[in-house]
Amino acid sequence: MAPLYKAPRGTADVLPAEQPYWDYVCQTANRLCQLFGYSRIETPIFEEASLFVRGVGHATDIVQKEMYVFEDRSGQTMALRPEGTASVCRAYLQHGMHNLPQPVRLYYWGPSLRYDRPQAGRQRQFTQFGYEAIGEGDPALDAEAIELAWRLYQELGLTDLTLQLNSIGCPRCRPQYLEALKAHYQDKLRLICTDCRSRFQKNLLRLLDCKVESCQPVIAAAPPFTDYLCQQCALHFQELRSYLDALAIPYTLNPRLVRGLDYYTRTVFEVQPPEQGAQNTIGAGGRYDGLIEELGGRPTPGIGYATGIERIIANLKRAKVMPPAPAKPAVFVVYQTAAARSAAARLASELRQSGIATVMAVGQRSLKAQMRQADAAGAEFAAILGEEELTTNSVLLRRMADGQQERVASKSAPKGIARRIRQASRPPA
Ligand SMILES: [Zn+2]
Ligand SMILES: [Zn+2]
Repeated sequence: MAPLYKAPRGTADVLPAEQPYWDYVCQTANRLCQLFGYSRIETPIFEEASLFVRGVGHATDIVQKEMYVFEDRSGQTMALRPEGTASVCRAYLQHGMHNLPQPVRLYYWGPSLRYDRPQAGRQRQFTQFGYEAIGEGDPALDAEAIELAWRLYQELGLTDLTLQLNSIGCPRCRPQYLEALKAHYQDKLRLICTDCRSRFQKNLLRLLDCKVESCQPVIAAAPPFTDYLCQQCALHFQELRSYLDALAIPYTLNPRLVRGLDYYTRTVFEVQPPEQGAQNTIGAGGRYDGLIEELGGRPTPGIGYATGIERIIANLKRAKVMPPAPAKPAVFVVYQTAAARSAAARLASELRQSGIATVMAVGQRSLKAQMRQADAAGAEFAAILGEEELTTNSVLLRRMADGQQERVASKSAPKGIARRIRQASRPPA
């Protein structure tokens, strides 16, 4: 019979078999963030829609086409979070974090939602891990943000990725570059796609972002932004690159890498898997020195990065990186007779209180069926309680791997079992 309900299009259940990947990625990311001095922040899954209109940009596809917007019961226009940075900057302002020592280093985890066409590596609900360092414009911080992303993938075992880097200048030098870009496109409007023709009118920088085949030669011949950087931006970029060299982080200069909004400044970077289109980018980040001001704060520099967990996991599978196996129960408690059931429940409880992972057989099943369950659960030992064990106040401990059995006194069962588990897990001499 077909199920009555399915998870909504563009969403996915994360089943137990997938969880080891999630634990692996999340634990690695948490550990690295702590190593780098970042503190965790959690923001709500929805905000006032206008936060994202300002913080992500009115002209972006995210705001124009993809954001889940709804009116709540009081008539306020709210939106489900399409990304993390705007919310973190909102929290920075709301909680007066500019009074803390700067920069404030924050990281976050959580679902984001975009109404997009679902396809491989693109879901409507996806999970982002991201971090922001707000309150300092030093290129050393750009290098740190890049290093954190790079180390994360390295630690996870993704060693074939590439880091793409560019600078998109600042409000001082950008107008000159946009003029040059405009001049470059002026006599090529017939060669480019319809979207690009509208970008030519509204958002010049995004011309460089186009994925349409026919636009590629025009993009390839476009002047690179790095030729037009003002002195401060050029110096910033040069210092960032020398930090990256000192940290031995390999990068590729990509003059087509852009963010099409005024508050994104200078450094932009992306991490990409080998031989994939840009839409399979694993993560992207950059400097947003104008964003806090856009959200009503004082001019405050910041830089951040976000990476999709589902995309990381897809790449772990591609690269055949196996996460550590999940823990199996150490003990599966089974019982021979109904009379032994409460003794079995007590034993299971005592074992758990001693920190031993224990599952107890439930339901009316034969001992043989219970033993099959112990086997299926991957338990290291079965603790068997029957008539004889009840009269002698003992537990029969059976090692599942080889069937070796041993009787342990009930009173000292947790200690005795713990000792045997330690012995069993000790590597052979
Ligand atoms: Zn500049
Ligand atoms: Zn185009």
